[in-house]
Amino acid sequence: MGTSESEVYNLLNLAEDYVLDGFRHDHPPRQHLTERISKPLSPQAALDSIAEQVAACTSCALHRERRRTVPGEGVSSPLVMVIGEGPGLEEDRTGRAFVGRAGRYLDRWLQSINLDRKSNCFIANIVKCRPPGNRDPSLEESAACLPYLKRQIEILRPKVILTVGRISTQILCERTEGIGKLRGVDLEYLGIPLVATYHPSAVLRNSDLRAAVWQDLKRLRALPGLSDGLDPSEGAGSR
Ligand code: URA
Ligand code: SF4
Repeated sequence: MGTSESEVYNLLNLAEDYVLDGFRHDHPPRQHLTERISKPLSPQAALDSIAEQVAACTSCALHRERRRTVPGEGVSSPLVMVIGEGPGLEEDRTGRAFVGRAGRYLDRWLQSINLDRKSNCFIANIVKCRPPGNRDPSLEESAACLPYLKRQIEILRPKVILTVGRISTQILCERTEGIGKLRGVDLEYLGIPLVATYHPSAVLRNSDLRAAVWQDLKRLRALPGLSDGLDPSEGAGSR
């Protein structure tokens, strides 16, 4: 093929110049009339660009004590996007989401329904910088960081969102009930079905919650767009 993609965009811009110069004689400042046409970023490039902006972000107080920012990781067209609360110690050290004890446990939950961050999930958090001492992020901090997550979701367009824990569920669904009330409920964010469950850290502290998590994972797996192509191996990760 003779014409590269960037040549096509250049041609579009040239055609636009021709139309404007050909039909307008007063030559008003060009930018008031029209945005230049630029090549859309690939999903991966758009995600990388968000990660760069996050790395430089000082929009809330959490930037002061962070070591690394944790933008999230996974595939760029995931079946499931998992959303936690915020980086912990290990995540702050490595810049990677859910890599500490809770993260390893979360990986087992996902594996039990044939999901994982390397082939069909993306894992992120409400806030991209660690709240000191692992405290809950404040509403202000969550609101300051939400635009990054929202843009990630718009790029990734997962089939289903899985929120783990109260904080991410409350923020995305704009609800005030506890996670015990919100799990098992049909929820959505930006038109994407959302399943809420307990946070893996909570389940590590209280094994009574494991049965509920397994129910939630089964409900997630049965949602449209997810039920086919997955070959569940009963129960493994929630035990
Ligand atoms: N807990 C979270 O909510 N997110 C992480 O990335 C790690 C622990
Ligand atoms: Fe910016 Fe989010 Fe980090 Fe706050 S938590 S400094 S909003 S990236």
